[in-house]
Formats: sequence, structure tokens, C-alpha cells
Amino acid sequence: MKYIDEFNDPGLARRLLDEIRATATRPWALMEVCGGQTHSIIRHGIDQLLPEQVELIHGPGCPVCVTPLEVIDKALEIASRPGVIFCSFGDMLRVPGTGRDLFRVKGEGGDVRVVYSPLDALELARRHPDREVVFFAIGFETTAPANAMAVHQARRLGLDNFSLLVSHVRVPPAVEAIMTAPACRVQGFLAAGHVCSVMGTAEYPELAERFGVPMVVTGFEPLDILEGIRRAVRQLERGEHRVENAYPRAVREEGNPAAVRMIEEVFEVTDRSWRGIGRIPASGWRLRDAFRAYDAEHRFDVTGIRTEEPAECRSGEVLQGLIKPTECAAFGTICTPRTPLGATMVSSEGACAAYYLYRRMNSPTPQAGGAAHEEAAPVA
Ligand code: SF4
Repeated sequence: MKYIDEFNDPGLARRLLDEIRATATRPWALMEVCGGQTHSIIRHGIDQLLPEQVELIHGPGCPVCVTPLEVIDKALEIASRPGVIFCSFGDMLRVPGTGRDLFRVKGEGGDVRVVYSPLDALELARRHPDREVVFFAIGFETTAPANAMAVHQARRLGLDNFSLLVSHVRVPPAVEAIMTAPACRVQGFLAAGHVCSVMGTAEYPELAERFGVPMVVTGFEPLDILEGIRRAVRQLERGEHRVENAYPRAVREEGNPAAVRMIEEVFEVTDRSWRGIGRIPASGWRLRDAFRAYDAEHRFDVTGIRTEEPAECRSGEVLQGLIKPTECAAFGTICTPRTPLGATMVSSEGACAAYYLYRRMNSPTPQAGGAAHEEAAPVA
């Protein structure tokens, strides 16, 4: 299949691995930013194929995982209200809030619906003028344009029964937070290709320069990831720290200017809390005042809901790359996809879910800058 088969070619993968092996002369730790990349890495065993000098650290780029518990609780409250149709992408339904999830609300009679686009929710608002339709607008720069477009369209069509529960986050401030954390071991980044396809690469050179880290824009297929690693390791070995685009079939330096304009028309930058991590300045978007009427938090008066994160879930450390999922005592014991304690265990981009799904059940042996080469064990 075009654009799939050629990026899974085993012969090319071997050649890239040989090049990485020949290039890496000492330990390097690279962070893949996106949860989609993490799943690809674990699914294809890329981390286990790398030379032991090259360690991959899983980053915070799973939108479901970083949505704060407090926002989940706001979603649960809104979805429970009579007259509301609460719309969401499917993987938010099993994310645990305080004591329940959206599936439970649906089971208790709430009108919770899975949609594939915010425009589907907009269509529901058009068809049900007597109901309040709310879309759960989470995610990184990738989902923001479509959500902005939905609000833009709602105003154009005069649909005042439509609103967004917004929890949008931005990658660059998260990179800054990771690099300034005292325990940070990251020496280079595989930047998320889909985010850069929207935003371009203009935000990254300053970060690469300030923190002295290579940032290689990387795709999601096995060869994309190996090529991103090869370029990052080559820069590190040469003492360089530049932005490189290893995903040119999807990413242009300027990104998608029309999508960025749509975001900027509807949203403005704000501080955001990240689940398990805490507040990061300027790390998200909220609706501009001109679009405040479409803000579900205000419409349903849930701004006052405050929730503490559960202490037993270490997803904040997982999302910052400080531990691997198997280092959490709850992993695979009291926390499984059927009984998740945190969103990282149920999201299709969560690192804990990837380790569970692809049978990485053993705790890795921490190595000083080296890879975790644990053997996969079958699930009991
Ligand atoms: S295994 Fe479960 S409890 Fe542990 S960090 Fe992952 S989601 Fe949280």
C-alpha cells in the first residue's frame, strides 16, 4: 500500500539500524514527543533493536493522557445534565474521572455520543435545536484547527446550542518544561510530525539553540522513526543542535498557514494544567472573548470544579519520561486497560497502554543513559 509498505521495508530498516550502530559512540537519550510514535516504537520493537547506547524516552504527546482529571470531572458533570448531548472522540470515554468515566455516565442515562469530527457534533446541534450539544475539544496543535473551524461555523450558522469544553495544549512549552526539570536526561527530540504539519517548524530553532538539543521532525512509520533517530544521533555525535525535517512528505517549514490562521482567529494562548505534571505557562489555548458564548465551562458553570490527582498513579512521571510504565507498581496489577487508574493506560496513544498491549510486562533495568533492553513476557 502506497506510503505504508515502503516505510516498513525490513531491508531499509536494517540499513538504518546499521548506520545508527556505526554512528553512536557513547550513550544518548532521545525523547519521542508523540504518543503515536511511542506506540509505533513499542509495537515494532524499535527500542529493542537499537544499540544499547541509544535510549528512547517516551514523551508527553498523548492528548488524552495529559487532559487533567479536573477537566474530565467537568466533562462528567456536563454530560450528566438533562438536555445535553455530549460528544467526544472514543478514547475519552474510558478515561477515569473521580469515581466514574463517560461510559458510566452513558450507562446512567446520559446522552454521550462518540463522533469522528467536531463537525459531526455541529451537525447534531443543527438537527437538535432543542438540545445543548457539547464537544470535548482536547488535544495538541493537530486537533485545534478543526475545533476552531467548528466554532467558526457554529457562529456563521447561528447555532447557539453548540459549545466546546476546551482543553487544548501546545508542544513547545512542554518541551521547555521537560528541559528545565531537574531530573531531565533528554539530549535530543524526535518532534511530532503531525503537529509540525499544522504549525511548521518556526517555534523549534530557539528551543534547540537554548537547550542545546537536536530536534528532528519525525513521522510515525518504523522507517520514519529510525531515520529520525539516525539524524538525531548524527547531530549529537557531531556536537550539533539543529532543527531537521525528516518528515518532508507531510511537513513544510511554514506548516499549514490557513489552519494556523483559523486557530488564531478562535483561540488565544493561556496557561494550562497537564495531568500528572501540573501547570505550564502559556501551554494551551482557550476560546477568545469574542467566542466566549461557545465555551461550555462558562455555559454550564463548571469553572469551579477542582480535583486532586490520585497519588497512586505515576502517569506524570511517565509523561515526563522520568520512569517507564513498568516502573509503576500498579502497572499490570491493579492498573490494567480494564481497571485503569490513569489515562495513560487507556488512551490509544498512552505509554502504559502500549507497554501492556505489546506485552512489555517486565520492569526494565535502569541503565546509565543506555537502552532498556528487557525481554517481553507474556501476559498471565
Ligand atoms: S500503570 Fe496505571 S497507575 Fe501506573 S502510571 Fe500507568 S496509568 Fe498510572
